[in-house]
Amino acid sequence: MFNLDVLIRPNIKSLVPYSSARDEFKGDAKVFLDANENSLGSPLTKWYNRYPDPLQWAIKEKLSIVKGVAPKNIFLGNGSDECIDILIRAFCEPGMDNIVIVPPTYGMYEVSANINNVAIRKVPLTTDFQLDLPALEEAVDERTKIIFLCSPNNPTANSLNREDVEILLNNYFGIVVMDEAYINFSRQKSFVLELEDYPNMVVLQTLSKAWGLAALRVGMAFASEAIIGVMNKIKPPYNINQASQDLVLKALDEVDQVNEMIRLLVQERTRLENTLPGLNCVLKVYPSDANFLLVKVIDAKKIYKDLLEKGIVVRDRSNVILCDDCLRITVGTEKENDALIQALKYHNNP
Ligand SMILES: *Cc1c(COP(=O)(O)O)cnc(C)c1O
Repeated sequence: MFNLDVLIRPNIKSLVPYSSARDEFKGDAKVFLDANENSLGSPLTKWYNRYPDPLQWAIKEKLSIVKGVAPKNIFLGNGSDECIDILIRAFCEPGMDNIVIVPPTYGMYEVSANINNVAIRKVPLTTDFQLDLPALEEAVDERTKIIFLCSPNNPTANSLNREDVEILLNNYFGIVVMDEAYINFSRQKSFVLELEDYPNMVVLQTLSKAWGLAALRVGMAFASEAIIGVMNKIKPPYNINQASQDLVLKALDEVDQVNEMIRLLVQERTRLENTLPGLNCVLKVYPSDANFLLVKVIDAKKIYKDLLEKGIVVRDRSNVILCDDCLRITVGTEKENDALIQALKYHNNP
């Protein structure tokens, strides 16, 4: 069975976290002389002389309403990339433990594991980009602390079959990370409302994609209070800066505008899905639940270069397993997508 206490690295379990001035005194006071801030103010708005709320409660309260998850089950990171790194550092003993990833998938799981000297076991997706459950069962051992899943998956754009994910969640008692960076573009429902059923699950989402706030660097982890507690223990004390916190609070009031952008992007995605297969150089457009398309072309390296010459940059994924001659193309504005279509149409006759 799942037992958080045995999964956590012993040094993290016994860690005494850094206690900031903001942690030690919470409440109303008139005079703050506890944090060595500049008492006179700042060249910017007044409150930027003060350290931000380490646990970002104002944001979590608002997110809680948007997501239907209690504030105590939310962790905010400096991008979901920070959440990934913190999870690996919380659970994986360098040189001893391992993680499992299912390539082709998001690159940061592997990079973060490598930085932390944590072994990586790769269990490739099937040719239709789904989980290979028997191979996963084979790959996991008692030192496998985390399995990273990504759905909709980057760069393949599809969602994983829900039943497969559920089988995994019900039979593997390490941590299962569900990276849902693209969930807002998906036909599938999020796992974020299933936290009570799966105490070993961590759902990652981000404000970088559908919310249009990549520059602010804010990612979210949703999990049991116990897992969130472990993550809070090891995060840098002020990991979300005050400028980002202020802007995120404002942005969270604009759910309608974000939903409208999602609608438009999905509409443009459908247009590209319908148009690109008619072009000579396109062999296949894979089904997408995200804001990008994986497109198999006749000569990916050549087309990548041709597009660059026309000022259009896409992602060449042709060196990635199961993605021979594939480009990953973000859905752009209507005009940008027109430019892409034109460029691909005439790429052999400049
Ligand atoms: C873009 C992306 C992220 C990165 O999110 P940040 O919050 O910007 O760090 C995480 N996971 C996947 C699968 C992504 O594609």
